[in-house]
Formats: sequence, C-alpha cells, structure tokens
Amino acid sequence: MNLIQFAQDAIQLEGEFELHDLPRLSLEQTQSAQAMAHSPRVKWSLLGEPDMQALEVTKLVSEPRATRLAVPQTLVAKLGLTLQAQTSIELTCQRCLSAVVCNLDAQRQFRFALDEAAALALDDELEDDVLVLSQAFDAMELIEDELIMAMPLVAMHETCPVSLAQHSGSSIESDASSEKPNPFAVLAQLKTKRGQV
Ligand SMILES: [Zn+2]
Repeated sequence: MNLIQFAQDAIQLEGEFELHDLPRLSLEQTQSAQAMAHSPRVKWSLLGEPDMQALEVTKLVSEPRATRLAVPQTLVAKLGLTLQAQTSIELTCQRCLSAVVCNLDAQRQFRFALDEAAALALDDELEDDVLVLSQAFDAMELIEDELIMAMPLVAMHETCPVSLAQHSGSSIESDASSEKPNPFAVLAQLKTKRGQV
C-alpha cells in the first residue's frame, strides 16, 4: 500500500478477520475448548488523513529541532491515518478464575515520518504516534498491536457469576472460621484493648 497516496486521498479501508489470525493476541486468550472452537471476528478500519492538525505542523517548522528535518517532512507531517479495531476476547477473570469475555476497542491516530530520525523528532513534538514510511507497513501487525494495548490490565467480571461467587465465598468462610480468627473480630478486640489502655 502506498501510504502517502492513501493519506492524501483520504482513502478508507475496512475489513474483518478472525482473532485466530492474530497470533500474539490469540496467546492471551483462555485455552478453553469453547474459546478454541469459536474465533471472534476482528473488525477494523484504516482512514487516510490528508491534513492532521495543521497548527502543530506550523509549530514544527518554527522550532529549531524541526528545521534540521528535510523539507518534505513538513509536508509528510500533515499526513497520517486513523486506525480503529474492535473484537472480543475470552480472558480469565482474576477474581473468580472463570472465563470472562472482554470487548476490545482500539482507536489511534498515526502521523507519518520519512525515516527513523524524523520519527524521533516528531515523537518529541507530537502526541500522536508516528509511522515510519521507510519501513514495511503491515496493517495487520499494527491492528494487533493496538488491540493488545486495548486489553484490560486486569480482566474481571463486573459481577462474577453468582453461583461461583457463593460457592467460593462459603468455602472460604468455613475455612477461615475453622483455621483463622475472623479478621474483623481481631480488629474489634484490638480496638477494645486500645480503649482500655
Ligand atoms: Zn469473575
């Protein structure tokens, strides 16, 4: 894909593939039979951006660091793309350890740079992420990167399945009462003692 043309013409591409097509993201998935049998769809779109934040480009040109860049960079710096991707993935709930399906929703803007040096300079100046045009562009890899970054730090049900929660809750309670003193009772005792001293 010619990325410069893509951005200048504000071309929009969209499509779908399967989660199984993304090897690194697939590794994050629970290895349950259900998750292995059913591969969620990954919906994605890439939109060429012919004119991203012109003000920032003006700022770029006036700054000392930017003047070291080749002139075409100031033109290229207006070009970019918006990436969007959605999928769902089955993860392990860190509270009840059963499967929880998480929706992943990624959206990010990238600005183009001609080479690594220009990308580094741009990275300092701009909040957007930078794509280096001299490197091979792999849309699928970029989409996978963004979906991985959209994953929750800790996967958890909003409300864990009731049957599981009751079951584990009651077993923990009975274990606790037979082996350890109730922490709230201990706390109450401490308070009483302190009150007496
Ligand atoms: Zn849970």
